Amino acid sequence: MLIVQKFGGSSVANVERVFNVAKRIIETYKQGNDVVVVLSAQGDTTDELIAKAHEIDLHPSRREMDMLISTGEQISVALMAMAIQKLGYPAVSLNAFQVGMYTNTTHSNARLKKIHTERIEAELDRKNIVLVTGFQGINKFDDITTLGRSGSDTTAVALAAALKADKCEIYTDVDGVYTADPRVVKDARKLKEISYDEMLELASLGAKVLHNRSVEIAKKYNVELVVRSSLNNAEGTVVKEVCNMEKMLVSGVAGDKNVARISVIGVEDTPGKAFELFSLLAKHKISVDIILQSIGRDGTKDISFTVDRDDLHDALKLIKENQERLTAKDVVYSDKIAKVSIVGAGMATNPGVAAMMFEAMYNAGINIHMISTSEVKISVLIDEKYTEDAMNAIHEQFRLAIER
Ligand code: ASP
Ligand code: MG
Repeated sequence: MLIVQKFGGSSVANVERVFNVAKRIIETYKQGNDVVVVLSAQGDTTDELIAKAHEIDLHPSRREMDMLISTGEQISVALMAMAIQKLGYPAVSLNAFQVGMYTNTTHSNARLKKIHTERIEAELDRKNIVLVTGFQGINKFDDITTLGRSGSDTTAVALAAALKADKCEIYTDVDGVYTADPRVVKDARKLKEISYDEMLELASLGAKVLHNRSVEIAKKYNVELVVRSSLNNAEGTVVKEVCNMEKMLVSGVAGDKNVARISVIGVEDTPGKAFELFSLLAKHKISVDIILQSIGRDGTKDISFTVDRDDLHDALKLIKENQERLTAKDVVYSDKIAKVSIVGAGMATNPGVAAMMFEAMYNAGINIHMISTSEVKISVLIDEKYTEDAMNAIHEQFRLAIER
């Protein structure tokens, strides 16, 4: 079998853990498998590199930022190759350039376009365990790009798809996908399996188990994923197309604090204003999440929307520069808010779910600022300080601790 394994930063944080992971990789190899391993940067390395950059400039060039933060993964793969060799097995480390892992040109949030498999296949033919840097790619100018925070998951799944691997195992510091973050909700329960669609929502909702684009790719190429712990042998959660499990009304609840709200106030109530505003943001690659437009009154309306907190600065600057053209009287924002969401494949056919969620919020005395819904999720925007309370109240309301 050809197996792609991915180990996260905490799984390779120090020498002891590097050797533990090396032994696990060797186990898989000894069973006669071809093994390709994707690694993240050790521990907090990426954060530390970002902090170093910020000592120089709070808004450094994105190209140089990628050049800097991609180094963490290179350290990991080299150290892991050394550890495996030290234990007596053949290994080789490769970076994105050596593999030929091509992305578009969007620095700091690049998308994979094409992965060359020849070099990896040649190394596997030589019976090497192949260690590949996660998170990084190269663009058509041969410049280094990165795939966005936690992007190593996406590297692993894309590699599994490109190599037509039999299995893709994502090893992390939690032992699977839970009904809620167990650090926040004490009686959160591990799910045996979850569908791509639910996982996709959970991932993009800030349940930090998997990078959302990794799930998109898994769904598109039908790569069956297993999420499991690198610290124990517990069975993980399988992410796949259809779940045998009875369709749960709600599978999980997630909280996301990486949210900021912007309100553009007093915009002329004429056609084209929303178009102008959001095409402006799109042109600058700022993605918008929840959108709320007020009813026009006295010839004006307000448009509120949310963005990632890292994009707040750029979004505000952009809107202020174009305030006149957008006919906005004022622009206000808040970065003290959070998004709490529920996800469930059974939701689409069940009209009572939203009301149940709002009831939980009402009972907990939490005010809702914005709401958005889709086939498989409902999100509410609330004050950041109530995030944990809200998640617990909702988890309780839907009795997610109990297996069905
Ligand atoms: N090292 C990168 C990060 O911290 C990528 C990853 O961990 O997957 O975001
Ligand atoms: Mg990570």
